[in-house]
Amino acid sequence: MLTARVVFSPVVQRVAVLSLHTSPLAQPGSGDSGGMNVYVRELSSALAQAGVECTTYTRRTSVDQPEVVQVEPGHRVVHLTAGDFDLPKEELPSVLDAFGDAVMEHMHQQAPADVLHANYFLSGLVAHRLKHELELPFVSTFHTLAKVKAEGGDTESQWRHDAEADIIRCADAICVSCTEEENQFRRLYGNPQGRIEIVAPGVEHAFFAPGERSGARNALGLPLDAPVLLFVGRIQPLKAPDVAVRALAELGRPDAILLVVGGASGSEGNAEEQLLRDLVKELGLAAQVRFVAPQPHHILSTYYRAADAVVVPSRSESFGLVALEASACGVPVVASGVGGLLTLVDHGETGYLVPDRDPAVFAHYLREIIEHPGHAAALGRRGAERARRYTWSFAAARLRRLYTDLGVRERVACG
Ligand code: UDP
Repeated sequence: MLTARVVFSPVVQRVAVLSLHTSPLAQPGSGDSGGMNVYVRELSSALAQAGVECTTYTRRTSVDQPEVVQVEPGHRVVHLTAGDFDLPKEELPSVLDAFGDAVMEHMHQQAPADVLHANYFLSGLVAHRLKHELELPFVSTFHTLAKVKAEGGDTESQWRHDAEADIIRCADAICVSCTEEENQFRRLYGNPQGRIEIVAPGVEHAFFAPGERSGARNALGLPLDAPVLLFVGRIQPLKAPDVAVRALAELGRPDAILLVVGGASGSEGNAEEQLLRDLVKELGLAAQVRFVAPQPHHILSTYYRAADAVVVPSRSESFGLVALEASACGVPVVASGVGGLLTLVDHGETGYLVPDRDPAVFAHYLREIIEHPGHAAALGRRGAERARRYTWSFAAARLRRLYTDLGVRERVACG
């Protein structure tokens, strides 16, 4: 006689997400807040909707922040006190232990978890310790890596290099966003066998979808008949907004407008913004460049729709959400050929890739787009079609499977 056999598999249902240095509730586009904040918030929401309870731990940076913010059912953000509220990012290493203690206490008392997921290396260091103390699997998403930044000309301390090496040795899984990032990771950090997982970020298609350009321009008080170029992102050398300004100069169209949406970021951020404003004046572009303060995420869709093209001249980019969001809105992207942008922009099909961030080459492709509206519309259409592959719910499904697998895999021993 056949008997039914019931197999129980341990399904992961609770994740402790660590986002020490920046809160998923912060406004992205300046300071330390950008793509990682969007990634943590959107993924946690998508995971919660898929039945995985997410508690995101971040450092309290103001007295007004409540301890717990219930973002939606199954997704809460917990603000923990670890060091002075206004501690600069460079001093965060001194509060890692305090933050780790606070996370453990909260987990013990209120939110036990089955897996730890750390974002950025500072959280990775905390999760590394907690993995051993709590005997839990540990997933790391770096978002940026010191060696990758170094290749783009931005140097980081030896301490950060060593910290990242430690995390890589012990993480049970390392999430990257695309094949390009995976290849780069293997080239620079070796091959942590079976531990690299591609989890492509998503885009919220309910906001970021093609729409009428004239309506968007009216809403933003922009002329209907002038070329409009858009740069979105934190103002810091890594994002190279100066290349967007120089490309505008090379374009030689006095009627063209460049919108720079975002604010200063990093310890040199204010100086960098001043340099950018000086450059604009020096190049005689003051009437053509408009600086716009960081905008709430969903409002950005109006900016994308208003633009003829979005310029992404970054020195390095692990993924490049701005490029994806622009494509999802049906706008061609002209980007530097680095990192995730190589995956997101299909050269000649959805936009253009520029080697070496040469402003003259950016200007050449921007001219192609501005002067050939039919071709530009086709680039935008194909971009929007490609962008449909990327959803947060798909990313959450991959993570959910990974978390479940880790529940039954042997944990990596610190080597
Ligand atoms: N962003 C925003 N408002 C702004 C500027 C940026 O919501 O004013 C968001 C943008 O929509 C994107 C993220 O910040 O989702 C930036 O991510 P990206 O991957 O392009 O760059 P990162 O900040 O990770 O370097």
